[in-house]
Amino acid sequence: MAAEGTSFVDRDQLLARMRRGEACDWDMIIVGGGITGAGVLREATRAGYRALLLEQRDFAWGTSSRSSKMVHGGLRYLGAGDFKLTRHSLTERERLLREAPGLVDRMGCYFTLRKGVFPGRRVFSMLLWLYDRLAGIKDNHYCDAEQMREKFPGMAAQGLQGACYYTDAVTDDSRLVLRVLQESVAAGGQALNYTRVDELLLEQGKVRGVILSDGDEQLQLRAPVVVNATGAWADKLRGQVNPEKRVRPLRGSHLVLPKHCLPVSETLGLMHPVDKRSVFIFPWEGAIVVGTTDLDHTEALDSEASISEQEVDYLLQMLHSEFPQQTISRDDVIATYAGVRPVIGSEKSKDPSKERRDHAVWEDQGLVTASGGKLTTFRLIALDVLKAAQVYLPAAGSVKRNDADERVFSMPPLSAAELLPDRPDWAQRLLGRYGAAAKSMLDAAKPGEDQRINGTQFSLAECRWAVRHEAVQHLDDLLLRRTRLGLLLRQGGEQLFDALQGIFSDELGWNPQQWQAEVTRYRQIWQAHYSLPSAAAEENKPTEMTPEGERQPLITEGDTHEQ
Ligand SMILES: Cc1cc2nc3c(=O)[nH]c(=O)nc-3n(C[C@H](O)[C@H](O)[C@H](O)COP(=O)(O)OP(=O)(O)OC[C@H]3O[C@@H](n4cnc5c(N)ncnc54)[C@H](O)[C@@H]3O)c2cc1C
Repeated sequence: MAAEGTSFVDRDQLLARMRRGEACDWDMIIVGGGITGAGVLREATRAGYRALLLEQRDFAWGTSSRSSKMVHGGLRYLGAGDFKLTRHSLTERERLLREAPGLVDRMGCYFTLRKGVFPGRRVFSMLLWLYDRLAGIKDNHYCDAEQMREKFPGMAAQGLQGACYYTDAVTDDSRLVLRVLQESVAAGGQALNYTRVDELLLEQGKVRGVILSDGDEQLQLRAPVVVNATGAWADKLRGQVNPEKRVRPLRGSHLVLPKHCLPVSETLGLMHPVDKRSVFIFPWEGAIVVGTTDLDHTEALDSEASISEQEVDYLLQMLHSEFPQQTISRDDVIATYAGVRPVIGSEKSKDPSKERRDHAVWEDQGLVTASGGKLTTFRLIALDVLKAAQVYLPAAGSVKRNDADERVFSMPPLSAAELLPDRPDWAQRLLGRYGAAAKSMLDAAKPGEDQRINGTQFSLAECRWAVRHEAVQHLDDLLLRRTRLGLLLRQGGEQLFDALQGIFSDELGWNPQQWQAEVTRYRQIWQAHYSLPSAAAEENKPTEMTPEGERQPLITEGDTHEQ
């Protein structure tokens, strides 16, 4: 965890040193500040290497803030007979649950079974028995239709047979990235957001570092190995040393609804009535999230992904069919978000929902690329990257070896009861998110700032701390990634603007003009990418067609229960 009272990243200072020609030589440079890059930085610094991570926008700006928030073993892998992968994912899930309660928490899932839909109770129960066994827990059972209608009042009765109950875990994905980054920086790593790598530095065909633009100048940073952790963008950076295209970008989108819209207190898994793909409804941060879709993302990767009209219809259609009395409409939607999954593609014609979702690591002339995978397995991906990079790194004798049993997250010095005796649940949440800094975060709050904001779990105390210590450059960094208030409050949380203006002015010295420019920027981003699609935006968007001109399957023959 970052040292108490200091920023976990000192951007200006590090960039100034680079401009002076200092801090330009590293053992490893990692490109991409999502969960993959953060995990590599964590393991590289733990191993004793001098490692630098560079992110073109904000930390977790890419897919790692737009997932379905599940830390899971992957029932899909088990369904496909891949026991090893499932066991590894489950081991990581259990490790994260142990190490970061409050950030990664167990959540029950009721997977609904309806007449005529595969798999039925027997097959599903057998899978779950094995799933739990591989995780070393026993937490599954069957609920009949009556129990389900009691648990989820208003559920459509037609064909409802019951549900298989099991547990996985839920997280706040961008806070997970932040926490991993903070641990890495505390262990000696460096990370810069808003620093784009323009190209690889090549010498005689070998990768020797990266080139960044810095205003009108260019900065060259050198390292014997560069890690390409750019997720859905991986082919682009890799293209300089290998033209092969391996990543198939698939978009998945979600709706965020207020809690009162649906009686869902644990995850509800459902087969979409039209295409029998699995879709989930789950409580998250005081709201309800519905998703995901799964389709080829044909738009430019550099513009932020957003949900389409067809995806909104698809998700609402499922809600109307499963909760016919609930009359949920577009007006209920608080926010939306869309992410692009870096799936290691096979042939384009393959149904998106049937593509494998595990990771791959390639090595090309000193560039180690890791793409695919999921949040859950970030530590394993990082260890695979280190293994592939080993040949380029300084002799192992001088560095500490990675110990499989060492914690990813350091143990906070206080228990929840010691931190906030009268609010232990909130204290646990803060310890999960801030680790050792949780107490300093509370101590830095001004009177009244430790109260929960409008039904969410977030507080102004966390906003002040983030602006002061968490490399916030823009208002959207704070509202969409350090906190998720922009997804949980109507109009992206505009009601907080007065309070936030004061915090930005206190902590970063923003004047009214700067604040206004940030508000304008935030409104544009939120309207275009986190609200319902506007008619104008839809008109300018390419339709969801395959290159062959056919309608893209939002709707596919799904056989899995995977986010
Ligand atoms: C809809 C959806 C639901 C999902 N649900 C789950 C789930 O429930 N559980 C789970 O475990 N996984 C889930 N996943 C998968 C998981 O979210 C991703 O595998 C993971 O977030 C990928 O992380 P990453 O770091 O590889 O990529 P990213 O998070 O996209 O990070 C890559 C980063 O590289 C940066 N970058 C690109 N080019 C450059 C450059 N030139 N210079 C500097 N930086 C650059 C980008 O800005 C980006 O921030 C889901 C994915 C999607 C799309």
